Amino acid sequence: MRGNMDRLAIVVPCYNEEEVLKIASKALREVLDDLVRKGKIGQDSFILFVNDGSKDRTWELIEEEHAAYPGQVFGVKLAGNVGHQFALTAGLITAKDMSDVTVSIDADLQDDVAVIEEMIDKFHAGNDIVYGVRKERKTDTFFKRTTAQGFYKVMELMGVKTVYNHADFRLMSKRAVEHFSQFKETNLFLRGMVPLIGYQTDCVYYDRKERVAGESKYPLKKMLALAFNGISSFSVKPISMILGLGMFIVFICVLAAIYALISYFTGHVVPGWTSLILSIWFLGGVQLLAIGLVGQYIGKIYIEVKQRPRYNIEKVLTDEEK
Ligand code: UDP
Ligand code: MG
Repeated sequence: MRGNMDRLAIVVPCYNEEEVLKIASKALREVLDDLVRKGKIGQDSFILFVNDGSKDRTWELIEEEHAAYPGQVFGVKLAGNVGHQFALTAGLITAKDMSDVTVSIDADLQDDVAVIEEMIDKFHAGNDIVYGVRKERKTDTFFKRTTAQGFYKVMELMGVKTVYNHADFRLMSKRAVEHFSQFKETNLFLRGMVPLIGYQTDCVYYDRKERVAGESKYPLKKMLALAFNGISSFSVKPISMILGLGMFIVFICVLAAIYALISYFTGHVVPGWTSLILSIWFLGGVQLLAIGLVGQYIGKIYIEVKQRPRYNIEKVLTDEEK
């Protein structure tokens, strides 16, 4: 099944990347040529640029590259800007029908293109998904580094399975992308979804570099949105936390009741205080409990409507061939 003739598709989402597009195209073409020369991938391997509704000349540049290197540089033009995660998904799903294996990478070349070879080696060794993991974040600003690491920690706390320090630089086999395409949810968070696919996986490690040119298309606002989307698309833990808090407050209410009653009988209270304080604690607790309980059902509905594939069968052993 896996051989030297495997067609590789490198999928690159691009949003206003006119400054880096040609540089990225050149670097990636060199990687392809090198891998073809070494006999690791098929000659028909290609780069697929996905233009995510750029407002600059990105698409014109993709067209130029396609004309200059037909058969090696392909392009997909999305009708408008839909964001990195959607652009990447559009690229992967388009590429899967034309290729045997995909590698997704950002246009800014912050991820080391040199480890693509290692990814392919690991693919040939039987892995279906190979994650690119950053060794260190020396080149990121202190702010980006701490927020990003905080993000992985919070995700872990919320019970979302992600690969630490892995962004969207990864290899996926055709069958992995095929299974991924069965996830019909619209709130995409690829880093959480890919580990759900299963199969044998591995990681390659690299140093993250600075952007070749241009500036980050992920300002704080988009980063926070991604983080919140990641949590709310994968975890109903926040709802369970509310339920837990409700229970805790009802418990406190019992303690408060004992305290208030003792104060009442020892006569150290202003009239009306006991009933007021008890009502406040009790009603607060009961309300939170009720919200949490309703939330549990909403959480279930939420998970049901996603209609995620429930499992991924890798092999069946019967007397018929499959
Ligand atoms: N990107 C995209 N659509 C967007 C924003 C970004 O396709 O709406 C692409 C962008 O062109 C780049 C990748 O997503 O290839 C990652 O963006 P960026 O490098 O700006 O993010 P950072 O590395 O700063 O987190
Ligand atoms: Mg970047």
